[in-house]
Amino acid sequence: MKKYTELSAGELQIEKELVLRQYNEFKAKNLSLDMSRGKPCAEQLDLVSPMLDAVSSDLPLITQDGIDIRNYGVLDGLPEAKRLFAELLEVRPEQVIVGGNSSLALIYDAVSRAMQFGTTDRQPPWNKLDRVKFLCPSPGYDRHFTICEFFGIEMITISMNENGPDMDTVERLVSSDPAVKGIWCIPKYSNPTGITYSDDVVRRFAALRPAAEDFRIFWDNAYCVHDLDRPATLLNLMDECIKQGNEDMPFIFASTSKITFSGAGLGLMAASDNNLERIRRQYSVQTIGFNKLNHLMHTRYLKNLDGIKQLMQGHKKILAPKFRAVLDRLDRELAPLGIAEYTRPGGGYFISLNTHPGCAKRTVELCKEAGVTLTPAGAAFPYGNDPSDSNIRLAPTYPPINELESAMELFCICVRLATIVS
Ligand code: PMP
Repeated sequence: MKKYTELSAGELQIEKELVLRQYNEFKAKNLSLDMSRGKPCAEQLDLVSPMLDAVSSDLPLITQDGIDIRNYGVLDGLPEAKRLFAELLEVRPEQVIVGGNSSLALIYDAVSRAMQFGTTDRQPPWNKLDRVKFLCPSPGYDRHFTICEFFGIEMITISMNENGPDMDTVERLVSSDPAVKGIWCIPKYSNPTGITYSDDVVRRFAALRPAAEDFRIFWDNAYCVHDLDRPATLLNLMDECIKQGNEDMPFIFASTSKITFSGAGLGLMAASDNNLERIRRQYSVQTIGFNKLNHLMHTRYLKNLDGIKQLMQGHKKILAPKFRAVLDRLDRELAPLGIAEYTRPGGGYFISLNTHPGCAKRTVELCKEAGVTLTPAGAAFPYGNDPSDSNIRLAPTYPPINELESAMELFCICVRLATIVS
């Protein structure tokens, strides 16, 4: 196999005819496959279904601390749930909020409160300011960027490398521009590149000297235990921030959406005592308390951090072969042609692939026309705008492996076709 750049005009023409034929054969199959979002597959959910038996009418519904989970009471999480998830988030139990069913909702609330009321009593609400800016390491999580767009927060794209965001630019902008109020981070098995921030990057985050006193790091640790290989280690941001006198800077989030049930798990938040005092005050207006039935169900079933890690081994057994199947096909069919570069994630839910510039949108369109839905090209960039139109997020978790194989076969054909005709 020759690289495309080494093919003569005649060879390129032959390749084009071959790929077009293969593409049309695929179209005739009338596929209908969805690889657009990072959802767990049914087998993963089956792993956790016994959790539903952890709360039932023949088991005690009053906790060790005497809390009747059927009734009102407890604003920020059952004590046993806070103890369990403090282990996961590597903070003290008092620093944890165990919320409702979604971390995205907690993240949205945090931005919304900052807009309406500010993050400290000393600074004005963000919506009283002319401009509010967030740094957006990209490719990143589209729903983070949508929150910014929704609130009219200006987004600044920051490039990512294998150790995390480009910290020289982050430091420069955070320390010089008081309109920069936040940054989005997915520090472990990042969505979608799968990289984990290096110790040096975490230390540089903790040591930031923001021009804005109310600057916050939105540390969305959504994939903290989601290994596909040997576990990566992530330095503890809160500990590092405490060492730097910056403990009010991080807002830490995670959830069990990809540990237990997606959309019916638990959203988690951790922050400093100062921040939490303010956040609890505001949550006490918004809710009398979150769903303690779900808190108890999770705590009884997962038990402790070892219980979570054991469960995640089961997820890994299901997911690692799917990631391998995708990577094997990319290695076989695209890498030798020199037309795509992609990540080999050690964990998380995605593979991030770069086509030649200008080919991503066309590749996704071609897939769609032949029955395979991918995440829209550009979605992982602020305003959905990938300046080089090259990034595509692949989500291998949901389809059964035979469907994944078909989808990837088509995908490789589409990358070839988009590259040849570009
Ligand atoms: N953050 C990241 C980085 C995600 O990939 C996702 C999607 N699982 C979420 C947050 C949303 O999670 P939740 O279901 O807890 O709202």
